[in-house]
Amino acid sequence: MRTFSDQADRVARFAGALREFGVVDGERVGILSHNSDKYLEALLSVPWANGVVNPVNYRWSPAEIIYSLKESETEILLVDDTFAPVVSELRQGYEGLRVVVYMGDGPPPLEDAVGYEDLIAKTAPLADSVRGGDALAGLFYTGGTTGFPKGVMLSHANILISAFGSQASCPFVVPSGRTLHVAPMFHLADLAMWVAQLMLGGAHVVLPNFDPPAVMAAIDEHRVTNVVLVPSMVQMLVDHPELARFDLSSVRYIVYGAEPITEVLLRRAMSAFPQADFVQCYGMTELAPMATMLSGEDHRQGTRLRSAGRVVAHAEVRVVDQEGNEVPPGTIGEIVVRGGHVMLGYWHKPEATASALWDGWMHTGDGGYMDDDGYLFVADRIKDVIISGGENVYAAEVENAVAKHPAVAACAVVGVPDDRWGERVHAIVVVKPGAQKPTEEQIREHCKGLIAGYKSPRSVEFVDVLPISGTGKIDKRQLSEPYWADSPRNR
Ligand code: ATP
Ligand code: MG
Repeated sequence: MRTFSDQADRVARFAGALREFGVVDGERVGILSHNSDKYLEALLSVPWANGVVNPVNYRWSPAEIIYSLKESETEILLVDDTFAPVVSELRQGYEGLRVVVYMGDGPPPLEDAVGYEDLIAKTAPLADSVRGGDALAGLFYTGGTTGFPKGVMLSHANILISAFGSQASCPFVVPSGRTLHVAPMFHLADLAMWVAQLMLGGAHVVLPNFDPPAVMAAIDEHRVTNVVLVPSMVQMLVDHPELARFDLSSVRYIVYGAEPITEVLLRRAMSAFPQADFVQCYGMTELAPMATMLSGEDHRQGTRLRSAGRVVAHAEVRVVDQEGNEVPPGTIGEIVVRGGHVMLGYWHKPEATASALWDGWMHTGDGGYMDDDGYLFVADRIKDVIISGGENVYAAEVENAVAKHPAVAACAVVGVPDDRWGERVHAIVVVKPGAQKPTEEQIREHCKGLIAGYKSPRSVEFVDVLPISGTGKIDKRQLSEPYWADSPRNR
């Protein structure tokens, strides 16, 4: 347990230590660690010292970590107990590390590392200084769903505007909030929640990683009010056999997003937590991260459960055609976003930056449409649209239909190469435990009553579990890649 003044003092002391290491304005400081209270401190200390925080995705392989440290020219790295043993391998692949800080308790298990607690004990707090505005505060890597992750450059202003906007738009950002942090803190979404909430007060409970029984026990013990999850985590919780053993009645808000959720799963989750408001967020790392929100009231009304909601206070959202012209409501186009929360650009990727930021808008790469009342519907990533026999098929729509089959626990839909159709709609299905496995034909028949025939899966594959990517999303690349590997065509 830690008070705000204690925490503020530790943040200023670690910032002082960073300055003593010679951190210059704009220098990157990496964090390679599971979630912890120290992780939060470091996320705040680095920008306090005018450095640039670079949270590393710990699910990357050592080779990928080395690549990103090199690319971001990160010379100072913080590691926890889990990742201290990887440091020698990192050093072999990258000679640029000049300081390694060990975040565990006690003396560092590494010869050439300094202890975090030791630094805090012996360093004077760094006095407040002029910082902020458009100066770079953090380098946050994207989820890596569509390719190798890109480093998103966010300024102090980006993060603060996002925080103030969230305070204005999100009913769960309140001084009485007690937030559970269980999604990985290396992802920007968690930091954004911290900052918005920290300004108001409230309490925070941190778990090192997602483990359903530990999540339920923490909610029960600490009377948690706010939980932020990705859909696969929602599914693991509601499916857990011990759900009823814990007292989860303190939960007021379940905030979810980051990938499409099926209506079937959402309805099940809503009945598992009848006292809670469900809130969906749509956004991306590049937007620090929010653009729209589907409120608790919208969920209770239940008529727009497939929508990602309405635009948040600090953003402007439009749906445009390829030339950037706004399309009428109901028409699918690219979702674009404008506002003070939009990233400065991608680190060392001027071409990717130019193709995302043009015409004054951030081009999200997501397809979707707006209805007459200003509710946004996210159809799919434009890159992932399945073009089968010349028709566009959006995976989320097919997934929603397949998920309604009573024997289906989870599913993912991808496009795979097909001689006749160019691409065909392929469903990968997990069957509910104890349920009889449906045939491919039965899945197709079931879908035909719900969606147009050309959208129904032309092939179905059954698996035990769906692969999950670094940020907890279903890893569709892993699912479709084997099919494309032998194809003369390219996706
Ligand atoms: P990369 O950019 O490296 O391919 P990524 O896009 O998964 O990875 P993030 O910034 O974590 O990295 O995710 C943003 C994306 O997640 C959005 O562009 C969108 O496709 C998807 N997304 C986020 N929220 C929602 C939502 N509520 N519904 C549907 N999709 C969502
Ligand atoms: Mg992206």
